[in-house]
Amino acid sequence: MSARVLVVDDVPANVKLLEARLSAEYFDVLTASNGAQALEVCSRAECDIILLDVMMPDMDGFEVCRRLKSNPATHFIPVVMITALDSPADRVRGLEAGADDFLTKPVADVVLIARVRSLTRLKMMTDELRMRALTSLEIGVQAPERSAIADAGKGGRILLVDDRPSSYERLAPVLSSEHTVDVEPNPADALFHAAEGNYDLLIVSLSLENFDGLRLCSQARSLERTRQVPILALADADNNTRMLRGLEIGVNDYLMRPVDKNELLARARTQIRKRRYADHLRDNVQNSIEMAITDALTGLHNRRYMESHLATLAEQTAMRGKPLAVMMLDIDFFKAINDTYGHDAGDDVLREFAVRIRKSIRGIDLACRYGGEEFVIVMPETDLNVASRVAERVRRAIAGEPFAIEKGNRRIDVTISIGISTLEQKGEPVADVLKRADLALYRAKHDGRNRVVAAAA
Ligand code: GH3
Ligand code: MG
Ligand code: MG
Repeated sequence: MSARVLVVDDVPANVKLLEARLSAEYFDVLTASNGAQALEVCSRAECDIILLDVMMPDMDGFEVCRRLKSNPATHFIPVVMITALDSPADRVRGLEAGADDFLTKPVADVVLIARVRSLTRLKMMTDELRMRALTSLEIGVQAPERSAIADAGKGGRILLVDDRPSSYERLAPVLSSEHTVDVEPNPADALFHAAEGNYDLLIVSLSLENFDGLRLCSQARSLERTRQVPILALADADNNTRMLRGLEIGVNDYLMRPVDKNELLARARTQIRKRRYADHLRDNVQNSIEMAITDALTGLHNRRYMESHLATLAEQTAMRGKPLAVMMLDIDFFKAINDTYGHDAGDDVLREFAVRIRKSIRGIDLACRYGGEEFVIVMPETDLNVASRVAERVRRAIAGEPFAIEKGNRRIDVTISIGISTLEQKGEPVADVLKRADLALYRAKHDGRNRVVAAAA
C-alpha cells in the first residue's frame, strides 16, 4: 500500500518539487500552503507522514507540529520538519514541539525518500496495532493517544552500546539526567545484554572498533526479545550511506556526531514515548484476546473458547488413539444460596469453586465455565475409569470443606453433581460427547445430587 504524504510549504515551488519527487516514488501526495490548511487536511484525510516547512507566515511549523501532536486524532502521524535552520538549538526546538525528524533545505533525494519510507513503515506497524486494539476491545477511544500525549518520555531504561570511552563517558551522564542508563562497551555482548535487560531504547554507535554496528541493529531486529525495542543510531557525519542503510534495516532514528546533548535527550524521549505507546496498544490487544476467551468472574475459560478448542483437542487425541473424557459439573441448589445469602455470596462461591477445580485437575485439562453455575472439564488422554476417579476427587474437594462467604464471616456447605462421558469413536461430534455428559449429570441430580454418574457407553 502506498503511504500518503502531506507536504506543507508556503512557497509553491517547494511544494511542487517535493510533490514530484515523492510521486516518482509512488507515494500518494497531498499538499497545503499554510498551517491552517495543513491542520484542515489532516482532520479530513488520513495522512501517514507530514513534511512540514518551518518558516511560514501566520502559523509557523513549530506551532502546526505542536497542535498536531497534542490532538489524539493526529498525534501518531510522524512529522518531518523541512528547514533552512540547522543549528542543534533549532532541531531541539522542533523535537520539543513533537517533530520526528528534520531535513535541511535543499533536501537530498535519497535522504528524503529513506526517511519517509522508514517513518511511514513504522507508522503502519503502529496503525495495525491500533486498529486491532480498537476493534477488539471497547477501550475508551483514543485512550492510548491521550496517555502518549501526557507522557514526557522520561524515566526510560536505555542501553548505550559504544566502545569509545571518550564518547560514552560524555553521553551516559547526559542520558542519566532523565533515564536509567547502562553502557555496554563490548559489542559482542551487546545483543545478549539487550535481550536480557528489558530496555526501552537501544542507542548504538555505528562507528565501533572491529564490529559492524549495523549488524548489531539488524540482529536486534530479528531477535524476538529485542524486536520491539527502538534503536537510535549514532552515525558519523561523513557517512550518510550507513545511516540510510540503518533506516532500511529498521533503525528508528539517528543522530550525527558530534552529538548535541539536548538533541540526544529530545530524540531519546521521542523514541521512548513511541515505545510506550506501542506497548500500551499491544497490552490492549493482549487483554482483549484474554477477555475473549476468559470468564471474568472465575478466570476459567469461557464456553466459546472451550467449544472452539474441544474439537481440536478431540481430533488430536483420536489421532493418537487416546481416549478423551468430558466432565460436566453443576452446583446443587445454587439458586437457594443466592436466595438465602444474596447474589454476592453466590459469586463468592463461584470464585472459590473455580479455585478448587483448578487444584484438582492437571495442567493439560481444560476447565471452563459453561453457563451460570455449570462447568465443563475436558480431560485429554483420560478414559472413563480415570475420569470417574478424578470426578470423585473434585466432588470431595467441594463437599469436604465449607465455602467462606460474607468476607469470611460465614461458612456454608456446597455440593455438586457431576456427569462424565468419553469420546467413543474417532470423528464423533464433540457435541454428542457433551450431550451424554449432560444426560449423566441429569441422572446424578435425579438420583439425589452430590454424586458422580458416568454415561452409559
Ligand atoms: P440444581 O441443584 O437442580 O442445579 O438447582 P440450582 O438451584 O442449582 O439450579 P437452577 O438452574 O434452578 O439455578 C441456578 C442459579 O444460578 C440461578 C441463577 O440466578 C444463578 N446464577 C447463574 N449465574 C450466576 C452468577 O454469575 N452469580 C450468581 N450469584 N448466581 C448465578
Ligand atoms: Mg517558508
Ligand atoms: Mg445447579
